[in-house]
Amino acid sequence: MNQTDPNQENRKQRKPFLVSYTIVILIMLLLNLFLFPALLESQIQNVDYGTFINMLEEGKLATVQLEDEQIYFIDKEEKLYQTNSIPQDYAIVQRLEDAGVSFGRVYKKQGVLEYLLTNWILPFLPLILLATWFSRRINRMTGAGGGMNAMMFGGKSGARQYVMDDKTGIKFSDVAGQDEAKESLKEIVSFLHDPKKYEEIGAKMPKGALLVGPPGTGKTLLARAVAGEAEVPFFSIAGSEFVEMFVGMGASKVRDLFKQAGEKAPCIVFIDEIDTIGKKRDSGSGMGGNDEREQTLNQLLTEMDGFDATKGVVILAATNRPESLDPALLRPGRFDRRVPVELPDLKGREAILRLHGQKVKLDSDCDFNVVARMTPGASGAELANIVNEAALGAVRNGRSRVTQPDLQEAVDTILAGAQKKNAILSEKEKCIVAYHEVGHALVAALQSHSAPVQKITIVPRTSGALGFTMQVEEGDHALMSKEELLNKIATFTGGRAAEELIFGSVTTGASNDIEQATKLARAMVTRYGMSEDFDMVALETVQNAYLGGDSSLACSETTAAAIDAKVVEVVKAQHAKARQLLSDNRRKLDEISKYLYEKETITGQEFMEILERKENS
Ligand code: ADP
Ligand code: MG
Ligand code: ZN
Repeated sequence: MNQTDPNQENRKQRKPFLVSYTIVILIMLLLNLFLFPALLESQIQNVDYGTFINMLEEGKLATVQLEDEQIYFIDKEEKLYQTNSIPQDYAIVQRLEDAGVSFGRVYKKQGVLEYLLTNWILPFLPLILLATWFSRRINRMTGAGGGMNAMMFGGKSGARQYVMDDKTGIKFSDVAGQDEAKESLKEIVSFLHDPKKYEEIGAKMPKGALLVGPPGTGKTLLARAVAGEAEVPFFSIAGSEFVEMFVGMGASKVRDLFKQAGEKAPCIVFIDEIDTIGKKRDSGSGMGGNDEREQTLNQLLTEMDGFDATKGVVILAATNRPESLDPALLRPGRFDRRVPVELPDLKGREAILRLHGQKVKLDSDCDFNVVARMTPGASGAELANIVNEAALGAVRNGRSRVTQPDLQEAVDTILAGAQKKNAILSEKEKCIVAYHEVGHALVAALQSHSAPVQKITIVPRTSGALGFTMQVEEGDHALMSKEELLNKIATFTGGRAAEELIFGSVTTGASNDIEQATKLARAMVTRYGMSEDFDMVALETVQNAYLGGDSSLACSETTAAAIDAKVVEVVKAQHAKARQLLSDNRRKLDEISKYLYEKETITGQEFMEILERKENS
């Protein structure tokens, strides 16, 4: 799950910039609110007319400035005073002259501009310059550390806005599997190579292509590879970067980005996580934060419509929640080409493992096919991680090459968490876990249509699992039959069934099994049409196909209750079946559990040996 997304770094780099500006603005506000008025007031002292006359008579006045309604004056100590003048007192001029006071300008009223200049701009100019300089410096430092040939563009604000890579240096050969995706992107590459060829014949290239797929499947990688293959500059920005700034910044960033891209054409503009700005605009609320996003989205749409596609700017975007995108983004002339980037199949997984395997030293016993078969549903990022984890493990164990056990351990670590070396399990607990796991494995092995057991372990994991049973499919399954699904549910219940059978009581250890069994049973009823009662009626719709596949009910309340009842029925039946299977094979259950208890980890082979030996005797 540890994806290394280059865009993550960008977000971090934005922080120092934001922080420094926020601090400056806060300081400005505080100073202006409290300090400056106080300073001004301390400079000029308000006195009444009587005091003014008294001071005049005492000969304390130096210079006086007469105005229509005010008199400003300084005394011999150069202190500045102000008093309201009495217009009727015409004799005052004479009296001042007699006292030898000079007339002159001692105080100047400020105009608005002057006020702004002296109170706001001049005092803070150095601060602003300092902040800008700092954020620039931070940008430059982190940018240089990025290790890629990237340039930062500061817009008017001086902030880093997006990354431009003159040469990504990544080729399609750096992306394993994903052949369909590569195929449909090849056309874009050829267009970028020679836009004229397309122009002459009158063909219009799509302005944008949308890469859709689950996280970690290589969408970002593919986008970079397109730029690398076409040997054009690569502008990239994450959707979230548009919206976390001040209001109005997003739109201007978009404008800026497209202006720069236009100058660099042919080139690629890549917008990662476009769903953050491209979410469906809801009609009702026009409140706060959404405005900014909408402005940004509108600007993006305007830019996409506005620019001339023949110039050779191709916009790629990536998302893992395509269903939440605003339909306006998907209209012809915008992201009208959709490139699915799915989780890799068996062949794809092996290819990805091989590709990343090239970067590490491998022992000759490494078999990536086995690893690929152990990891159905793993993304490219996870597979890359497995290889790296295996290499780390090899180093930890003082080996100079990665061996198959390293890979095996890495798979367990990535899929189930690292081994918890110092977990304290009582003998009794260990015994229960052993029976639980063997329960799963036995139920699976005793049924037809289930994947062979690859490994059983009762070494606790950091993820909280106290043990697990790994089954490995022989190949990829595009379709699953009802029997296979039911057998899977039975296998999930096998752990708990063994506990019941042996110990007569149950533990919390089955919570994950329960969750999985329920999920499957529910999907059978509501989505796969596998119950007689509901036939082929869709009762649920899946929302985030790529992110966990949440689904929402699409039926009446009474139906919902009937579904719940049906789900319980399905699980109950399989649980009973599992219990029966185990009690019929009680001696095997005991024997294998004892063996597992002693060895803590056993292979599928050992498991099958005991199972078959027993059967023959
Ligand atoms: P996404 O953008 O779809 O979330 P990324 O492109 O960021 O995924 O992939 C993350 C990392 O996973 C890549 O840098 C690469 O190391 C690895 N990876 C993912 N898919 C593949 C693939 N098909 N071939 C090779 N490496 C891959
Ligand atoms: Mg990505
Ligand atoms: Zn279990």
